[in-house]
Amino acid sequence: MPRRTGPLADLIDLVLPACCAACQDPGVVLCADCASGWWPAPRRRDQDAPRLDRLDGGGPLPVWAAADYQGAVRRTVLAWKDGGRLELTRWLAALAGETALGVRADLPGRGPHRGALLVVPAPPSAAGRRRRGEDLLRPLAVAVAAGLTATGLPALPLPCLRTRRAHRDQVGLGLRGRDANLADRIAVRHRFRGHPALLGAPHRVLLIDDVLTTGATLAACRRVLDAAGQSVVAALVLAATPPPTHRSGGVEPRAAPG
Ligand SMILES: [Zn+2]
Repeated sequence: MPRRTGPLADLIDLVLPACCAACQDPGVVLCADCASGWWPAPRRRDQDAPRLDRLDGGGPLPVWAAADYQGAVRRTVLAWKDGGRLELTRWLAALAGETALGVRADLPGRGPHRGALLVVPAPPSAAGRRRRGEDLLRPLAVAVAAGLTATGLPALPLPCLRTRRAHRDQVGLGLRGRDANLADRIAVRHRFRGHPALLGAPHRVLLIDDVLTTGATLAACRRVLDAAGQSVVAALVLAATPPPTHRSGGVEPRAAPG
């Protein structure tokens, strides 16, 4: 991104932090060095998420990531989610859209499913929503659906999931119990219950989330949407927690946001 100059610069600086979200370098929203941690093409990361398996014993969900969640990538995502750097949304949405185009050919075929591919963002937690006042993943789902639609795969962003307040303490629950508890808390939003996209024959669904850790959230979203008669075929995340043995390096730099 070019350095801002001229009479508007001071005014813009009042609203936009003029420093890199990951390293605080002045003058850019994200510097080229810090943007270089994002991979030029998405990679499958579900093999490292132990809790993606369906509770009913089905196979793991294919999950594609745009980076490992470490270093500058991790600092960028944290600055966006928790540091108020909302000007990153546009860049991260574009990145998610680009990532979706990279996995398009690997999405399972249409089969018996009809209509548009549904692009469903994981729901924000009640606390996250209160803290940030908005749903950060929604613009990412919109960009993903727009990118896929523009390349001939009709897709519809559908922010149809919500998180209910915890009604049962996680303490004392095993992993499976905690997964079931989380699945209990994620539900289809009331106003989407009669939505045409969720009625009739199943649609294919692509889930969107920011960070893949254990996979429990995505597994819970999948369970809820399966119960609503849909068919979750894959998930796309910005970044995935790397396995303990992972060594980074050898990635090509990606252009900084402009
Ligand atoms: Zn930087």
